[in-house]
Amino acid sequence: NDCLFCKIISGDIPSSKIFENEFVYAFKDIDPQAPFHAIIIPKEHISSMNEINEGNSEIIAHIFVVINKLVKELNIHETGYRIINNCGKDGGQTVNHIHFHIMGQRELKWPPG
Ligand code: 5GP
Ligand code: ZN
Repeated sequence: NDCLFCKIISGDIPSSKIFENEFVYAFKDIDPQAPFHAIIIPKEHISSMNEINEGNSEIIAHIFVVINKLVKELNIHETGYRIINNCGKDGGQTVNHIHFHIMGQRELKWPPG
């Protein structure tokens, strides 16, 4: 498996972990675009949002429950934050393992570029 994020999950590539359980792994983005910028991924390799279906969507729901807990631990649930999924070329996806960015601790602009 040549996937960068699968290698982060296995520990073959080091990362700064912020949370892990049986299903998901969350770590700090190597090139943070906000004071808090983390990535959360399912341990199961799913390439992108295009691959989500009734059979694997529970992991997506679980990811959002974990995000809810993390933002409360970080105390950014009141100031706010942004969850981003980039899909495909036009979406700006550069790693083909589905992932959600969690960004906060600054006021984010809208719309994105
Ligand atoms: P995408 O552009 O695919 O939505 O997001 C990929 C993200 O992964 C980028 O924000 C990028 O900085 C981050 N990233 C890429 N390679 C690594 C790495 O080796 N370690 C960590 N921690 N983040 C990475
Ligand atoms: Zn992968």
